[in-house]
Amino acid sequence: MLNQSFLPAKKIIDIIEKNGHKAYFVGGAVRDQFLDKKIGDIDITTSARPNEIQQFFEKVIPVGIEHGTVIVRYGKESYEVTTFRIEEGYSDFRHPDNVQFVDRIEDDLARRDFTINAIAMDTKGNFIDPYGGKSDIENKQISTVGNPVDRFQEDPLRIMRALRFCSQLGFSIDKNTKKAIVDNIASIEKVAIERIGIELEKMFIGTHISLASPLLIESNVDRYLPIFRDNYKFIKNLRDHSIPLGSMSEIVAMFHLYDQTISLEQWVNEWKLSNQIKRDANALVTAMYYYKKNGLDNWLVFTLPKHLFNGLVRLTSIFARGFELESEVLERMWSNLPIQTRNNLALNGIDVASIFPNLQKGPWIGQCLSHLEYQVVLGHLNNEQTELRKWVKDEVHPESLNRITRKE
Ligand code: ATP
Ligand code: MG
Repeated sequence: MLNQSFLPAKKIIDIIEKNGHKAYFVGGAVRDQFLDKKIGDIDITTSARPNEIQQFFEKVIPVGIEHGTVIVRYGKESYEVTTFRIEEGYSDFRHPDNVQFVDRIEDDLARRDFTINAIAMDTKGNFIDPYGGKSDIENKQISTVGNPVDRFQEDPLRIMRALRFCSQLGFSIDKNTKKAIVDNIASIEKVAIERIGIELEKMFIGTHISLASPLLIESNVDRYLPIFRDNYKFIKNLRDHSIPLGSMSEIVAMFHLYDQTISLEQWVNEWKLSNQIKRDANALVTAMYYYKKNGLDNWLVFTLPKHLFNGLVRLTSIFARGFELESEVLERMWSNLPIQTRNNLALNGIDVASIFPNLQKGPWIGQCLSHLEYQVVLGHLNNEQTELRKWVKDEVHPESLNRITRKE
């Protein structure tokens, strides 16, 4: 019997089969159903070539057509559909040099990283499991498909993937696979840092990070990763880390808080992270400093973007033991804030400018609004037009604000 979660994706396979091709569910979704985990993205593997898939479906996005991968949009869902393939060489350590499409599912399964990820399932719920993936799942074990030394040399990213599956699933790493990790760890340096970052993030998010983090040290992975390799003092932080985090920005914020001499800028540059991650990491670090100095107040809740609340909570459980914050408390405080954004202020920039008609508009208006925001958020002023106007008239001296220019 097919698990309910696969029903919408079954339609894709039905259509491919009607067109005379084979197709199966494969990868993480098949693995996760054995573990009673929520099924995430459903990947499909097929004997049909990408150009054929483009003919079978109306909406097909050619994301990696040369490697055999397209995304099929069907209903409201997207499915990654990949042609059965084998791979040769990863000389740039990003993409296989050469992929060859093949007709047999067994050959496609052979190129996959771990046995637990190399199980295919048809639409009736029958499995094709030539490498003992099901038994490895039962034994909670991660082993490579085929010889681990060859498989890690082929694509050393698989080393990071082994650790991240260990963290996500709570599995141990098979003895031979682990030995091959230790013996081949130096090759990880050749892998594009962006790919490593994605796996590292998933690893730190994993529920069983306490199992995976000692492995980072035992297998010397840390000696080959940017920043960690030059800072042996991180060993203890890495080895003992046991709290699942929520995102790369949290991870970077945490390591910066462990050693503030390594700037966020350096983390972002060496790990080639996005500006969004940099902004979020910065907001988290700023919030941590503020919390340590001032404790919890409305201003902290107002200034920290809401999507980072849980991240701050987790960081306080590492860096503010005994003073850990709780998400519900932050959420409740946020709902009760007098204003939630600057736009909610009863005065806007035009109103402020009209209070000082002789002054040319300039940055002082924004600064004035910041003061108002602060007073209102902390409850020192009611968010009410007349009260705010009066306060601005009495208390604000635009001359003393920066960069004001007088009208001639
Ligand atoms: P997740 O739940 O995180 O999506 P996943 O197992 O689906 O886990 P993906 O990274 O989405 O992992 O990859 C999909 C499948 O492609 C894997 O299950 C595996 O079969 C194969 N795969 C992915 N990366 C590699 C790799 N570097 N080498 C070999 N096979 C890989
Ligand atoms: Mg996946």
